[in-house]
Amino acid sequence: MPIDATLAYDDQNIFAKILRGEIPCNKVYEDEWALAFHDIAPQAPVHVLVVPKGAYVSWDDFAAKASAEEIAGFVRAIGHIARENGLVEPGYRVLANVGAHGGQEVPHLHVHLFGGRPLGPMIA
Ligand code: IMP
Repeated sequence: MPIDATLAYDDQNIFAKILRGEIPCNKVYEDEWALAFHDIAPQAPVHVLVVPKGAYVSWDDFAAKASAEEIAGFVRAIGHIARENGLVEPGYRVLANVGAHGGQEVPHLHVHLFGGRPLGPMIA
């Protein structure tokens, strides 16, 4: 069920629990700013979720409230994961669903990183 991205942050969401180590994940990468793990229901040969360490509901919330340092750290982490997983050539897709119309289901910002096959055109 897509979320209302204007809601206040709920620290009981599943990615908050993963960040706190309360439930497991298949970890790909972690640094000061981000944790990345394999999506539980992959839609491509590579389907990694990258979440910021800070408590942000959505991309919109992050863009409005995160510090420049947090934003830079998070974006650099995404680039690092793509390079380390051999995605840069032949290419990959970065996607953030936001709110109800975006189809966002988990109310902690996460970026999907897809790769490993030609991904085709974006679906509107
Ligand atoms: P959204 O639609 O952008 O919110 O995507 C949520 C994603 O989280 C979906 O692709 C789910 O398969 C994925 N997901 C949900 N629970 C877990 C989990 O516990 N581990 C890893 N991925 C998860």
